[in-house]
Amino acid sequence: MPKSRTVRDYIRTIVDFPHEGIMFRDVTTLFADARGFRMAIDQMLHPYAGMEIDKVVGLEARGFILGGAIAHQLSVGFVPIRKKGKLPGTTISQDYKLEYGEAIVEIHDDAIAPGERILLVDDLLATGGTAAAGIKLVERLGGEIVSCAFVIDLPDLGGRRLLEGMGMDVHALCA
Ligand code: IMP
Repeated sequence: MPKSRTVRDYIRTIVDFPHEGIMFRDVTTLFADARGFRMAIDQMLHPYAGMEIDKVVGLEARGFILGGAIAHQLSVGFVPIRKKGKLPGTTISQDYKLEYGEAIVEIHDDAIAPGERILLVDDLLATGGTAAAGIKLVERLGGEIVSCAFVIDLPDLGGRRLLEGMGMDVHALCA
């Protein structure tokens, strides 16, 4: 009997993107496939059955695609965290370290009410810097992160360790 495809089978790796030496995990092939996309969303939702979640927060840009679908399934609102200068309303900002240099992410300052229970979503966890910055933004607004959900975790890069060290619950579908 042929082996059924897993989420990982829908993700392709592009060598030397965006620069030499990087093996880029490309989830657009997962998103483009109806069966693959549904499988990913269903599996990402699985740990949260029966859990109280008030909002989904997605990290730019692939976290918007996943987070939007997850929020729809949960019948809750979706809040974007964007790179600096993209959100039109009043924002708060958080900087974080990249491999070379720094980046800044922002959230609308009225997007989350104190005490709201938040699920943070992105496609991939590498060093954890991006997710950690997102967590800080949510917490600065008084939100409580109930969990962080990713499609891919690259464990050698330490992101899970970093987030778990911040007291976070972390779920990923594949490595
Ligand atoms: P981190 O901040 O080092 O954990 O990097 C994670 C962020 O970079 C996420 O927002 C990802 O979308 C993006 N990212 C890093 N590497 C890849 C990759 O190989 N494929 C897709 N996204 C990636």
